[in-house]
Amino acid sequence: MRIGEIGEFGLIQRVSQQFASHCDGCIDGIGDDCAVLEMPGCKDLLLVTTDLLVESIHFIRDQIPPRTLGRKSLSVNLSDIAAMGGVPWAFFLSIALPESIDLEFIDAFMMGIHDRSRQFNVALLGGDTTRADAHLTINITVLGKSPHHRVKRRSGAQPGDIIQVSGQLGSSAAGLHLLLNDQLGEDTGKFIAAHLDPEPRLAVGLALSEIPGVTSMIDVSDGLLQDLSHICERSLSGARVDFDAIPHHPDLLNCARQDDRMMKQWVVSGGEDYELVWTVSPTDELRALNSVRDAGARNAASIGVITDTGRVELFDGNGAMEIPNIGWDHFRNA
Ligand code: ADP
Ligand code: MG
Repeated sequence: MRIGEIGEFGLIQRVSQQFASHCDGCIDGIGDDCAVLEMPGCKDLLLVTTDLLVESIHFIRDQIPPRTLGRKSLSVNLSDIAAMGGVPWAFFLSIALPESIDLEFIDAFMMGIHDRSRQFNVALLGGDTTRADAHLTINITVLGKSPHHRVKRRSGAQPGDIIQVSGQLGSSAAGLHLLLNDQLGEDTGKFIAAHLDPEPRLAVGLALSEIPGVTSMIDVSDGLLQDLSHICERSLSGARVDFDAIPHHPDLLNCARQDDRMMKQWVVSGGEDYELVWTVSPTDELRALNSVRDAGARNAASIGVITDTGRVELFDGNGAMEIPNIGWDHFRNA
C-alpha cells in the first residue's frame, strides 16, 4: 500500500497505535500540538513540540531570505506552544546543511533564530549539526510550560460551543501563490510577509488559557478546515462554519485576480497562517473575543458552532458550500 492511501494523518494514527505512548508523568502523548508531561516537584506542566522544515517541501531556498527562514523556523514551533496556551521556555536546533551553502547564509539564518528567541525569551540549549546531500533541513524542538489547569487541548469541544479564530486567514496561501507564480507587485508585500514571516500568537494563546470556558484549541498550520477537523476528531464532535464570518484581508480577492473560488480555497484550506482556532462556551464568547483583542488579535471573530454531526460543514449566505480540498496533507497533496 502507498502512503498516499492513508495520508499523513492516517500514518500518524498508525504510529501512535504501534507505540504505547505513555511513560511516568506523561499526561498527553501523540495527538495534540504538544506532548504534556508532569515535572516532579513542579506545579507547572511541561509542553514539548517538534517540527521539521525541509528545503523544496517547506521552503524554496532562493525565495526566502535566510534571516526570515531562521525566524519562521522558530515561529512555527512556538505556534504549537501558543496552541496549548503555554509559555515557551527553551529550544533545541538541529540542522543538516549541504556543503555548498555559504557561511553568510548560516549567519543570517542564525540571526533570524536569534530575533525570535529574544522576542519570546526562549533559550537555545543544544541541537545537532550534520552534512546533507542536497536539501537544507531544519528541526526545532521547543519546551514550554503551563500552569496545571490551563492547558488547552484539541479535545474538549462540546456541541453548542462557539468556534473563534484569532485573525485573517488565507493571506499565507495568497503569498505562496504570488511567489510561485512570480506575481510580485506594489501591493503584495503583506501577503508575502504573511507567508514568509508569520508571528506566533503566544499572547493570544496565553490570554485564552485564563478562560475556563475555552474548551479546545489548535493552530492553523494545515488549513482552517483540516485543523478544525482535528478538534472534531479529538472531541468526537462536528463543526458548522459560516464562510462569511471568517476574517480575511480585504485585498484577497484582488490578489486572486477576482477568482472567487481560489480566494475561498485560500481562506478555508490555505495553510501556514499560524492563527489560533478555539472553541468556547457561549457564555464566555464575548469575554474570549475581548481578551484576545486586548492581546493583539484585532481581527478575531466567531466563525461557527460545534455540532454533534461528526462532520465539518461549511455554509455561506447561499447554503452549503462544496469543499474540494480541506487542507494540507504531505502525502495526499504531494
Ligand atoms: P502540528 O501540525 O501541530 O505540528 P502534526 O499534525 O505535525 O501537528 O502532528 C500531530 C501529532 O502527531 C503531534 O502530536 C505530533 O507530535 C505527532 N507526530 C507527528 N509525526 C510523528 C511521528 N513520526 N512519530 C510520532 N508522533 C508524531
Ligand atoms: Mg499545531
